[in-house]
Amino acid sequence: MLDYWEEAYKAALKSEDTNTQVGACLIPVAHIGKYITIGWNYEIAKIPNKLGFVHAEMDVLANASNTIDATLYCTWGCCTNCAKLIVISGVIKMVTAEYDYDKWAQEIKYGHKILRDNGVAIEFRKPFGSLLIGGVLR
Ligand SMILES: [Zn+2]
Repeated sequence: MLDYWEEAYKAALKSEDTNTQVGACLIPVAHIGKYITIGWNYEIAKIPNKLGFVHAEMDVLANASNTIDATLYCTWGCCTNCAKLIVISGVIKMVTAEYDYDKWAQEIKYGHKILRDNGVAIEFRKPFGSLLIGGVLR
């Protein structure tokens, strides 16, 4: 059986963002142990402050055919926009990294509040191995 947490980190390696590689995988409830959908962050428009980036959570939800009651693993904390997308997609659980988010800490705190206030369970895990250092996978 796949280690979903590890799979999210493998997906992060596909990101070409030199500052913060983020990966996600989504496990539809009907397909536990059968298949996963993956996603990662990437830039679609050159705009300051990374506003032109698709986040890993957005990518994995767009790639998934069935998101109802799914569990979403993501290597980075959830921003407010991704949290809203996760809630309306019917995801019931998010597994995310316990990490010092530095300047993103407030945004991620609000993102996690949106998830909790809407019944999405959050499980925090230590970053996989020692791959995530300063937001960059090594
Ligand atoms: Zn986001």
